[in-house]
Amino acid sequence: MTDVGLLAGVVVWLMCGVAAVLVGQTKGRPAGDSFMFGAVFGIFGLAWVALSDPHTTRKCPECAEKVLIDAKVCKHCGHRFVEEPLPPPGKVSIECPLCDTKLKIPEDAKRFRCARCGEVSPVPD
Ligand SMILES: [Zn+2]
Ligand SMILES: [Zn+2]
Repeated sequence: MTDVGLLAGVVVWLMCGVAAVLVGQTKGRPAGDSFMFGAVFGIFGLAWVALSDPHTTRKCPECAEKVLIDAKVCKHCGHRFVEEPLPPPGKVSIECPLCDTKLKIPEDAKRFRCARCGEVSPVPD
């Protein structure tokens, strides 16, 4: 390889990296991340940055529009995504009938005491 060829290679390499950064910026992708793709994979990395969406989306159950995975409210219809953490194994979620506090109780419990109001309630079947 001649010096000119090498130089041209480096220039193309840098240009792909810089172009990827510019494209990535419009998509909210970190500059270092974009540069790496452009520089390492050249034109393919650039294309990947241009085509990929750094934000993962999910489908709104109400309106079927795509919304960002971190969104708490659907921007299209206002649907709220409430994420209920799964109870640990052997425990179930239950609501105090008196104060609506959510509690985790053992699966086989017949009665439970509310941690907030102290009310003892039978576990409904
Ligand atoms: Zn929606
Ligand atoms: Zn309670």
